Amino acid sequence: MTHWQPVIGIEVHVQLRTGRKLFCADCAVFGDEPNAHVCPVCLGLPGALPTLDPQAVRLAVRTGLALGCTIHERSLWARKHYFYPDQPKGYQITQFDRPLATGGAVDFDGAGGTSRVRIRRVHMEEDSGKSVHDRVPGATAVDLNRAGTPLVEIVTEPDLHDPAGVRAFLQTLKRTLEYADVSDCSMEEGSLRADANVSIRQIGEAGLNSKTEIKNVNSFAGIERALRLEIARQIEVVEGGGTIRPETLLWDDHRGTLRAMRSKEERHDYRYFTEPDLPPVQLGPETIHAERIALPELPRARAARFGREFGLSAYDAEVLTQTRAGAEYFEEVARGCGDAKEAANWVMGPIQSLMREHGADPVGFGIRPPQLVELIALVREGRISDSAARTVLRVMLEESKAAVDVVEERGLEQVRDPDVLRSWVDEVVDAHPQQVDRYRGGETKLLGFFVGRVMGRSEGRADPRLVNQLLRSRLSA
Ligand code: ADP
Ligand code: MG
Repeated sequence: MTHWQPVIGIEVHVQLRTGRKLFCADCAVFGDEPNAHVCPVCLGLPGALPTLDPQAVRLAVRTGLALGCTIHERSLWARKHYFYPDQPKGYQITQFDRPLATGGAVDFDGAGGTSRVRIRRVHMEEDSGKSVHDRVPGATAVDLNRAGTPLVEIVTEPDLHDPAGVRAFLQTLKRTLEYADVSDCSMEEGSLRADANVSIRQIGEAGLNSKTEIKNVNSFAGIERALRLEIARQIEVVEGGGTIRPETLLWDDHRGTLRAMRSKEERHDYRYFTEPDLPPVQLGPETIHAERIALPELPRARAARFGREFGLSAYDAEVLTQTRAGAEYFEEVARGCGDAKEAANWVMGPIQSLMREHGADPVGFGIRPPQLVELIALVREGRISDSAARTVLRVMLEESKAAVDVVEERGLEQVRDPDVLRSWVDEVVDAHPQQVDRYRGGETKLLGFFVGRVMGRSEGRADPRLVNQLLRSRLSA
């Protein structure tokens, strides 16, 4: 049997977070009334001239740097022609043979260890509008709010070889761009869109065979599923003696199917030429340097440092560096409480679940790192139990109060008075004679049952360590 190796290259479009369009002053926001943000430039009215937003260029430079690319001090704009209702000018302003940045690489961790994907190029371009099919019955409407929104297109070399790896790569890419603060990278809102090019070859073969391109995927899970399907189809075609037709395929996430959009033969001739209305993009070394400085420590570097400096496991370091704000939150707690492992447990456990529950991100989350540090100190001093601490956290969040105040107001201080504890232990033991017999008959795992009852009786306030000790001696009597 022949063994096939999938070969995959990715093209990613990312909306830059400038809040405005690339060549005019209209604002660029998601979800407004259709055609609320349009002007002669992005409507493509005759005689309207584009002016470049320098902030978009800065963010594009930062994107290139975050991906390890060489930034070119001179790059050119080009017109790419195609006719489509949501493309008002009849062409898109993009970069073609002289892009902003080339030759980078992204390392990512997958099931098979660390892999590297080379980045072929990063260039700037404007987005198109949107064709809307569900607004006007029986007709397609056009919304040009998105037309002219600044994008970078990131093109990889065909260095990926399995769908799960593609997903891991895209996750790392997304994280990197979020850290670099160039985009909000929301796949649902379309600010990060990935197309996958895929072919197959026999293992050991070096050349590239004809590929198909999968478009319209709007989730990481979707891209993985679409690729699996397409790879299986290509293998079946080739093993059946057929050949792969180069074509563009559209992913239908709902049905989980791919359908041909256009074949290579019908492919557009884009008639690229240099954009006459815009001068070349000229960047001084100082602009590039300024963006290099603006670049924060990137996720993989940060995760590695968390491992070195705090002794965290690779898994914990990875989870804690998912977002830059989350990593900063954790780091502040770790430094504040002086025990990174303990900080990691709190942040990855109760804090992350409260954030999820409240739909809050680390920046907007009501419990700030210094307040969490105070709570951790109360637990460490034995003043409150672990389970009481969870109640305290909830109240801190809901009533915006400090940990000590919540503990005092609610009487959540841990009960360690032996007389009080002994009375609860006696009460529980007396109430469960059958379990006592079974325990004494050797079923010692019932200890947990008794501890649970005593903790319940104390409304979570008993010191579980002391309860354990008292129960053991009482039950062995
Ligand atoms: P196209 O002309 O179809 O746009 P490009 O050569 O510009 O193709 O490459 C576009 C993307 O497709 C890149 O990410 C590249 O790595 C990938 N790619 C190119 N050839 C192949 C192939 N044979 N198999 C898989 N991916 C490929
Ligand atoms: Mg392409």
